[in-house]
Amino acid sequence: MNNVAEMGARRAQVAAALQQVLPARAVLSAPEDTRPYECDGLAAYRQLPMIVVLPDSEAQVLAVLKVCRELGVPVVPRGAGTGLSGGAMPIAAGVVLSTARLNRIVRMDAYARTAVVQPGVRNLAISEAAAAHGLYYAPDPSSQIACTIGGNVAENSGGVHCLKYGLTVHNVLRVRVATIDGELVELGGEALDAPGLDLLSVFIGSEGMLGIVTEVTVKLVPKPAVARVIMASFDEVLKSCHAVAALIAAGIIPAGLEMMDQTSSRMVEPFVKAGYDTEAAAILLCEADGTEEEVEEDIARMTAVLNTAGAIAIAVSRSEAERLKFWSGRKNAFPAAGRISPDYYCMDGTIPRKRLGQVLAGIAAMEARYGLRCANVFHAGDGNLHPLILFNANIPDEFHRAEAFGAEILALCVEVGGTITGEHGVGIEKIDSMCVQFAPAELEAFFSVKRGFDPHGLLNPDKAIPTLHRCAEFGKLRVSGGALPFPHLERF
Ligand SMILES: Cc1cc2nc3c(=O)[nH]c(=O)nc-3n(C[C@H](O)[C@H](O)[C@H](O)COP(=O)(O)OP(=O)(O)OC[C@H]3O[C@@H](n4cnc5c(N)ncnc54)[C@H](O)[C@@H]3O)c2cc1C
Repeated sequence: MNNVAEMGARRAQVAAALQQVLPARAVLSAPEDTRPYECDGLAAYRQLPMIVVLPDSEAQVLAVLKVCRELGVPVVPRGAGTGLSGGAMPIAAGVVLSTARLNRIVRMDAYARTAVVQPGVRNLAISEAAAAHGLYYAPDPSSQIACTIGGNVAENSGGVHCLKYGLTVHNVLRVRVATIDGELVELGGEALDAPGLDLLSVFIGSEGMLGIVTEVTVKLVPKPAVARVIMASFDEVLKSCHAVAALIAAGIIPAGLEMMDQTSSRMVEPFVKAGYDTEAAAILLCEADGTEEEVEEDIARMTAVLNTAGAIAIAVSRSEAERLKFWSGRKNAFPAAGRISPDYYCMDGTIPRKRLGQVLAGIAAMEARYGLRCANVFHAGDGNLHPLILFNANIPDEFHRAEAFGAEILALCVEVGGTITGEHGVGIEKIDSMCVQFAPAELEAFFSVKRGFDPHGLLNPDKAIPTLHRCAEFGKLRVSGGALPFPHLERF
């Protein structure tokens, strides 16, 4: 729809239909009202939506989907908009369905250690409510103060504690989903196993392309009696990578195992004053949790492994306040990037742990080649990288160089046996990199699953799965030395 008049007429038609099923205040169509929804955490990409709706009940969600299905309007679900891959970025002729008003904790069952929550409940709010029972919800993205459980389900989000306690997929028992055809379906159940195909696992991580999450049952775990964290410094990045592998090989599963390189610790320290060793080439944060005895034993074992791996200094938190101080730098690394660079591009990919050293060396070589700095602060225990590429969007070409740098990091992740999907999902950010990772037959299989849930192709279209045509174009664009990098795509 190119024509402004046509677009205006369409907006008026869809808004009128939505106002039939929602209160007037729940339908936003004026640009000044829809502007706050034009991007998610990937702010480099923006698009004003045609309309934003804010339903406050499951019945209203179903009614919105019915209108959109009947009028053929694409729907983009949105939680808090903290996603970093553009998953909640609007579509020009589409509706953004915000879950901001679906924010009730429906039930907390301390005996079953579960909570039933609406999709717009914030991740941290679940743990805050469960704290009265000595319980918490384990997956803890660094954005947990703001991000919603619906977004977490859609992205299969992880966090610092996921090495020991699992990702979202391991901590969600059941979701209720509104389909584009107006059905409510339950995936999973209250028990650990559910009859039929495991569609819960298919749905978790599906980035808003299969249905709208309207209710989630999460597992809660007891709050550990004690937690302490080791901060270990290394004079070489490679030694810190070996230390990560050595800890796991020793049979230790830390409650958190994070790495920060020197660029990151120097970026964060003046901002947060966490006490980081800014002379070290890399630092590891290794947490132990459990009873007093378990923690004492784990800290002693981890210290021994870290020393053998070549740690040049080790500090262990002596109080809960100090533990939180050590973590505060890690948790604030992204905002701290804004202090040293006008813009940053947060990449995300996962690799086998044993390849950490190789990939970090590869990224260092790319820094020189692209003429851009990169800070690495990441979930080392999970092999989940977060290179923060620092750039200045006002300098011509820097953003494009940052994008190319990011794409090359992802290609390297695939080359060493990892995945581009990481923990931030694909969205629009990594859609071309999907062509690097998956063959046409695999992409077609993904589309078949999507068609099973969304036969009209209205839910978050053009995200996460690239069309074969797009991959062919991408392949052609990347011709180098006369050779196509993905010759199998030539035929499309
Ligand atoms: C500072 C910062 C730190 C971060 N740290 C982490 C981290 O440690 N680990 C991590 O995994 N991520 C992290 N993220 C990324 C982000 O917070 C997560 O992806 C989070 O799960 C997104 O939740 P949201 O509510 O903001 O979802 P949104 O950004 O609004 O949406 C994300 C995706 O979910 C879909 N969606 C949202 N709600 C629903 C629903 N009800 N039904 C169906 N689909 C839905 C959207 O369409 C979109 O595709 C971080 C982001 C920031 C800004």
